[in-house]
Amino acid sequence: MDEQYISQLVEKVIKAIDSGSVGGSVGAQKGVFDSMTDALEAVQNAYKQYRKYTVAQREEMISNIRKLTLKEADIMAKLGVEETGMGRVEDKIIKHQLVANKTPGTEDLEPKAITGDDGLTLIEMAPYGVIGSITPSTNPSETVICNSIGMIAGGNAVVFNPHPNACKVANYAVDLVNRAILEAGGPENLVVSVKQPTMETSKQMMECPAVKMLVATGGPGVVRTLLSSGKKAIGAGAGNPPVIVDDTANIAKAAKDIVAGASFDNNLPCIAEKECFAFNSIADELIAQMTKNGAYLVSKEQRDRIMDFCLINKDGKYGINKKWVGKDARLFLKEIGIDADPRLIICEADEMHPFVQVEMMMPVLPIVRVNNIDEAIEMAVKAEHGCRHSAHIHSVNVERLTRFAREVETTIFVKNAPSYAGIGAGGEGHTTFTIAGPTGEGITSAKSFTRQRRCVLAEGFHIV
Ligand code: NAD
Repeated sequence: MDEQYISQLVEKVIKAIDSGSVGGSVGAQKGVFDSMTDALEAVQNAYKQYRKYTVAQREEMISNIRKLTLKEADIMAKLGVEETGMGRVEDKIIKHQLVANKTPGTEDLEPKAITGDDGLTLIEMAPYGVIGSITPSTNPSETVICNSIGMIAGGNAVVFNPHPNACKVANYAVDLVNRAILEAGGPENLVVSVKQPTMETSKQMMECPAVKMLVATGGPGVVRTLLSSGKKAIGAGAGNPPVIVDDTANIAKAAKDIVAGASFDNNLPCIAEKECFAFNSIADELIAQMTKNGAYLVSKEQRDRIMDFCLINKDGKYGINKKWVGKDARLFLKEIGIDADPRLIICEADEMHPFVQVEMMMPVLPIVRVNNIDEAIEMAVKAEHGCRHSAHIHSVNVERLTRFAREVETTIFVKNAPSYAGIGAGGEGHTTFTIAGPTGEGITSAKSFTRQRRCVLAEGFHIV
């Protein structure tokens, strides 16, 4: 699709949604309801019907979701940037492609059989039923599609309460998933959402007795709320991923990889490199190589002028100014009078500088000089704040690689590649946009959204 056509289409979609009519690229938005009460009723009916479908039929629906996601990736990417004002269209297209191609389907559900003198026991992975999912503003449509594929593969139906600031694009994805399901002969409203999500609709969803599992993808607040709901919950929370570069690394490659990972979608991904600890002996070369690969180096004085507007100091504690999350690097530079358009801004900083300690989700990467691996690991572990989310390193020293992995205890640990290799982009393994560190499911997939059931047949079917 050409650029102008997509822009016109996105404008049309936004107008249609804003006019309160229905929206969506092809008429009424399927699965998107005015009230949570109606959404919950519809999804319960859909789940009842879905119970009758075969696994092969589930797979047909999923295959259609993949196809449609690839076809409309550029529309969602553009719509996402326009609605949220965050991220980069070209990178969001890649994220949608990744979701479509690498989110596991029903093949992820592996039954187990145990046989012996007492007969045969089967263990199968069963659906929870209706799952309630809360999605973030940083990967809105990606998370809706990724969760939908995994949850539907597990035999579930889903009700979403998307981030209010990203609900147009999230609901576009809900509509897309339903269109794909219907085209493959599936039930109506297997995936639902509300037109205007609020804290109230979120509460209603969490408290509905028919919702048997809750999934939260977002910051610490939402994870805490869901984990105290009294229901089975999966929490995919915040991180602040450090990256270490030591004196054994291929510095040119490390620089290129870090710029690529830290600037991807303007640093919105929770896995992206957010602070760098570089050995003093290679730091100058690393910085020089980064600037050759799309980074712009600012002085300490310029860095702190940037900090004045992109962070907020509240009672001595720094937090993010949400207005600047996911914005293009050029806008930060413009604010301090520099006219340049790099993918990433880099700066030097001390370990305790707020740029190092705060999860900013902005294309601004602080680099801290360290003397040795002991210092690097100690500082990196501290900056990760025990989120156990993601950490990265560039080194060929096996002892150091192993030691950092052991000490930082993160769900994702990437060696000698950009951070996104950790979710299957240029690295082996499947993708997810719900990385469940706090509750331990890790790189979630269909099996994370199922429960184990055991079926025992005594005294038979043991055929050897
Ligand atoms: P956010 O926490 O502001 O919002 C996430 C979702 O939770 C939204 O739908 C929001 O409306 C809802 N929410 C927030 N507080 C809530 C509460 N108390 N009760 C119920 N719902 C609540 O996050 P965001 O700004 O959209 O996303 C960025 C954050 O999410 C970052 O911290 C990032 O690291 C994290 N994140 C984690 C993953 C992961 O897989 N672990 C993926 C994406 C984003």
